Amino acid sequence: MDTERVMGMLANAGFVCHHDPEHPTAPIAIINTCGFIGDAKEESINTILRFAARKSLTPQPPLPKARGRVYPLERLYVMGCLSQRYREDLAQEIPEVDGWFGKFEWDKIVESLSPIPFPKGTGCIMRQLTTPKHYAYLKISEGCNRMCSYCAIPLITGRHTSRPMEEILDEVRWLVTQGVKEVNVIAQDLSSYGLDIAQRHLLPELIDRMAQIEGVEWIRLHYAYPTDFPWELLPVMAKHKNICKYLDIALQHSSDQVLQLMRRHITCQEQEEVITRIRREVPGICIRTTLLVGHPGETEEDFDQLKAWVQKMRFDRMGAFAYSDEDGTYAHIHYQDDVPDEIKQKRVDELMAIQQQISTELMQEKIGQTMRVMIDREDGDFYVGRTEYDSPEVDCEVLIDRYAERPLCCKIGEFYYVKITKAEEFDLYGEIC
Ligand code: SF4
Repeated sequence: MDTERVMGMLANAGFVCHHDPEHPTAPIAIINTCGFIGDAKEESINTILRFAARKSLTPQPPLPKARGRVYPLERLYVMGCLSQRYREDLAQEIPEVDGWFGKFEWDKIVESLSPIPFPKGTGCIMRQLTTPKHYAYLKISEGCNRMCSYCAIPLITGRHTSRPMEEILDEVRWLVTQGVKEVNVIAQDLSSYGLDIAQRHLLPELIDRMAQIEGVEWIRLHYAYPTDFPWELLPVMAKHKNICKYLDIALQHSSDQVLQLMRRHITCQEQEEVITRIRREVPGICIRTTLLVGHPGETEEDFDQLKAWVQKMRFDRMGAFAYSDEDGTYAHIHYQDDVPDEIKQKRVDELMAIQQQISTELMQEKIGQTMRVMIDREDGDFYVGRTEYDSPEVDCEVLIDRYAERPLCCKIGEFYYVKITKAEEFDLYGEIC
């Protein structure tokens, strides 16, 4: 969304913006970076180096004004978390970059590029969507107060700050006018929405009102925190058909010893109670979670316990990540990164193998069911879509053979009822009813 915001602001200042890192054509490039974990940092740096190499190969004529052709890269800017945290070091290492900006320094980027003063105060709707037209992400708050031991996010984004509810709802109305049907609500800590501005949970009210906006077909919730969960959200989710029966709630581990080291302020038993209650009050809900292995102090016994717990809980969707030692975090300062990298990776692989088996079994249960599917794209001989139980880019997809019986003609972004005929571990196959 930060990328979309900068693109919208630049468009407002008269620039033509494209989002296509693989096929850059413009004389100016802005790279938005992530610096939360090791892999993301590496990917960001590789992207900067790729563009820097491209720039150093090109001559430096004045900026052309025309569009629609491939220009030599003349100016290179970097924004985002990585730039915010390491800009001095990076500036020395990669002198081809013309400017380094922090995660929230959107105005400065536009001001440094635009010859005319940047029009301020135009609100949240200055966004140029980079997602397919029918879905969008919507950030409702920024920052986090939780201070989990391993996490650099609070160091980068600061304390949790909720956006005003009316501003968010206006943005949803605007998204609908742009053709968006699926709103993916995101926040670093969804559960805390409202606590800073109203001293109470406002997420249930926000989502209830959002669900009543005409044209909103799907609302999907990402990144809840299990402690201090806003329980009134559950009847709201059960009540509205257009709130996806889907919740992304990161649990990270199950060993009480590791949860304590992680400073998660919750026990395994309490986590189970949270998941059980969510499943009871929103029947059929798809729970997605994220787990972190290889945290300092995680023993073989802790990991065995985690594996058994994953088997027991049978999460619909699960991602596993290896701990990465991040500068400035509590774990970096107070613990020793004592799990070797190869053990971390082995644990990730083991956990994902367990989840693959669970996912295969859960997907097999879908065969014969008729599901409402939103078509995302065409891919070779298939239309590729998703159900309400699947988030874009990270979850399962439904593949529909375009030529199975008669040539099909589906519209991207439209809903169809699909009978599921076959299931693999992470994908379903079906035919339009
Ligand atoms: S709740 Fe999430 S964002 Fe906040 S510190 Fe913990 S892991 Fe980081």
